[in-house]
Amino acid sequence: MKLGYEMYEALGISGEVYEYGEAVAESLAGRFAGIDATAEYNQLKVLKGMQDHQVGEACLLGTTGYGYNDLGRDTLERVYASVFHTEDALVRPQITCGTHALALALMSNLRPGDELLSPVGKPYDTLEEVIGIRPSRGSLAEYGVTYAQVDLLPDGGFDYENIRRALSGRTRLVTIQRSKGYQTRPTLSVDRIGELIAFVKGIKPDVICMVDNCYGEFVETKEPGDVGADMVVGSLIKNPGGGLAPIGGYIAGRRECVENAAYRLTSPGLGKEVGASLGALKDFYQGFFLAPTVTAGALKGAIFAANIYEGMGYKVVPDGRESRHDIIQAVTFGTPEGVVAFCQGIQAAAPVDSHVTPQPWDMPGYDSQVIMAAGAFVSGSSIELSADGPIKPPYAVYFQGGLTWQHAKFGILRSLQSLVDKGLVPADHVGKARETLKKSLS
Ligand SMILES: *Cc1c(COP(=O)(O)O)cnc(C)c1O
Repeated sequence: MKLGYEMYEALGISGEVYEYGEAVAESLAGRFAGIDATAEYNQLKVLKGMQDHQVGEACLLGTTGYGYNDLGRDTLERVYASVFHTEDALVRPQITCGTHALALALMSNLRPGDELLSPVGKPYDTLEEVIGIRPSRGSLAEYGVTYAQVDLLPDGGFDYENIRRALSGRTRLVTIQRSKGYQTRPTLSVDRIGELIAFVKGIKPDVICMVDNCYGEFVETKEPGDVGADMVVGSLIKNPGGGLAPIGGYIAGRRECVENAAYRLTSPGLGKEVGASLGALKDFYQGFFLAPTVTAGALKGAIFAANIYEGMGYKVVPDGRESRHDIIQAVTFGTPEGVVAFCQGIQAAAPVDSHVTPQPWDMPGYDSQVIMAAGAFVSGSSIELSADGPIKPPYAVYFQGGLTWQHAKFGILRSLQSLVDKGLVPADHVGKARETLKKSLS
């Protein structure tokens, strides 16, 4: 046994589960080196943005009241713009979450009579009410903005023919979701997003291309702003907040688009000039500084989870070898008990609330019971180790986050231990999976 087992044992991990984890981790060394290289590049990219804009001690202090002349806020927005290679950015604690940032970007850049097009299938659940796909008070539909959608082809490719047809004279904005979210379609690489934007602009050069960048930041060395996106939008309690941002969202993009968003967030005439940063700036800066390595840890955790559970015979999306463009991992257990045991294991691995046992419940907005594991420093933060699963076929869980690779690794092993302890995985399966892996490597 290696150095580490002592502490794993103290935290309830059996020798077999630990040894299997070590074998899987060793098999991933090459890929992890690639992730470290990406993190190194992105670390320097963020550092350069901070140095170029002369982030100083005074930037870490906040303002109150109206927030005129907020040096830290204005500098942070320039740092975001330079890291995302866009003209401007809006990065605010007044943007409450990812959905709010996306709603803001859409509602401020669309006008009555315009059409919004998603050429990559159904958008993230919460956007259905923003758009009015599910009738909702205050939706874009209520304001006379229509919506069109072109699904991806069965093989995950873009349906260029139907996208061309869907681009009408009224199409004002095209929304492209980078991450698969909680669907089974593949996540889009930045290069593929670039191909889609080029195609759309080739037909309609003035259309605004917005990318929902949630969970994608810093997974690659490029961001959607590098391939022609007019707006790049995300949440600070995911990747770019680095686990430290306690709230917030961002919109980076063309100056005009960002200004439209600012006039909507605050008020026409006021725009970016107001909006006190309160006490959030130090965490915004420090979180952004840590985000490349935090994202790398979460990415390693996702790949580790895929390989651990694929080796145990479960269906995992993405699979153990696929290239990655976001930090979400799906594992299909096929039974409610499997979903519950996994989530309880993740919760038991948390630094906060490890002693509580999550149970499935009737969450508003869902058509089945849902179980969630989130023992996070920032409530609901999904860059921290977290998982959730709807209690309905195919009984899959979605796992993401981990502020460090070491914690993500432990969380996954703890989840497997939970399945073993509940008798859902026969005790000898873990050893067998390790033998099979060892054979395939030699
Ligand atoms: C998380 C997420 C959102 C919504 O963000 P919230 O902060 O949960 O409101 C939107 N789109 C995608 C792809 C996401 O992953």
